[in-house]
Amino acid sequence: MIELEEALEIIGRVEPRSSYETVLLEKALGRALAREVRSPIDSPPFSKSAMDGFAIRSDDDSMSFQIVEVVPAGGAPRSELRPGECARIMTGAMLPPGAGRVVRKELMEEMDGSVTVMGLETGDNVIAQGSNLRAGDTVLPPKMLAAQDIGILAASGFVSVEVITPPSVAIISTGSEIRSPGEPLGPGEIYNSNAAQLVAQLAPLHCPSRFLGVVIDEPAQLSRAIESALVSCELVLLTGGVSAGDFDFVPRCLSELGARVLFHGVAVKPGKPTLFARRGERYVFGLPGNPVSSFVIFEIFVKPFLHRWMGLDWNPHVFRARLGAKVHRRGTERTEFLPVSARDGRVVPVAYYGSAHLNALRDADALIRVEKGVDTLEEGAEVDVRPF
Ligand code: AMP
Ligand code: MG
Repeated sequence: MIELEEALEIIGRVEPRSSYETVLLEKALGRALAREVRSPIDSPPFSKSAMDGFAIRSDDDSMSFQIVEVVPAGGAPRSELRPGECARIMTGAMLPPGAGRVVRKELMEEMDGSVTVMGLETGDNVIAQGSNLRAGDTVLPPKMLAAQDIGILAASGFVSVEVITPPSVAIISTGSEIRSPGEPLGPGEIYNSNAAQLVAQLAPLHCPSRFLGVVIDEPAQLSRAIESALVSCELVLLTGGVSAGDFDFVPRCLSELGARVLFHGVAVKPGKPTLFARRGERYVFGLPGNPVSSFVIFEIFVKPFLHRWMGLDWNPHVFRARLGAKVHRRGTERTEFLPVSARDGRVVPVAYYGSAHLNALRDADALIRVEKGVDTLEEGAEVDVRPF
């Protein structure tokens, strides 16, 4: 059994295998930008008014101005403003040449083609050309694209972007007791929750996933399934059959198929029997069958693996918060991740009786980390919180 950090180091040594594809902006949400993007234009491309009002010269101290033109958004101003002149201007419209500030319409009184300043304007109400970005500036660094990033790219005129192609993932559920939802349950049988859950966990990372089915605990059938998964996909996620029971054939099948086990057994709870293996350029995670373990181990190990594989420098989002209730545990020989609900600035462990208790996750939105050797965390203690 190795330590959690050691397992993460092994995953961190995986060689990135980035390949790229170009996608339309409307398909780019959640995709990993391949490389830094620079703006081909100034943003905004021209100096514009932030208000509906009257544009005047910056150096003009007059109190009354003659209105010489009207500039709507999208219109091109005709002439340079001279002292004593103003242009009626709309929000987002281009400033006429010579203009340096805009007085809001509420502060002006209009009569017979002229306006008189009635109140004090504090700012210039101008959004200067290039004040967001200059042409050639970095628009975005390589990152997972969020909704606002899509907006930022569109503002610089991009129709499409180059993104990283994520690994293809095969999912195999092992266990003679596992039935697919929709099938009738016989004695001793349960529904396969891990496969659907893993597909859902992979979806935000845009990994194309294929569920290759449920395989009974029988070495020949298991080997055949793993072999075909290794041929068709870059990552194989197996659940169940990975610990030391009489019918846990995953480690043996992997060895027989020529895979090299990089670790098997991690001092982490849940998920102690987790296995990570490699055959050539293909990787395999053997996740424990209990659905909370499968969920947590995906968060703790598979997510970092996927980011690493794509060549992304990634760390999970972790914040510090105070515990809303005391945590006590008996064994302290493993680093433990406990499901919590984060609310009102505190985190409260959800009622949870172990890694088979999938329904406990219903009310959870984060994991807290309890360090090895620690048996008690008092209410109010600060902990690392990792939202999922
Ligand atoms: P195993 O890791 O194979 O020893 O399985 C541990 C526990 O997880 C057993 O109670 C299994 O029935 C259960 N389990 C295994 N695979 C799944 C699955 N795909 N969905 C839900 N529960 C599972
Ligand atoms: Mg099993």
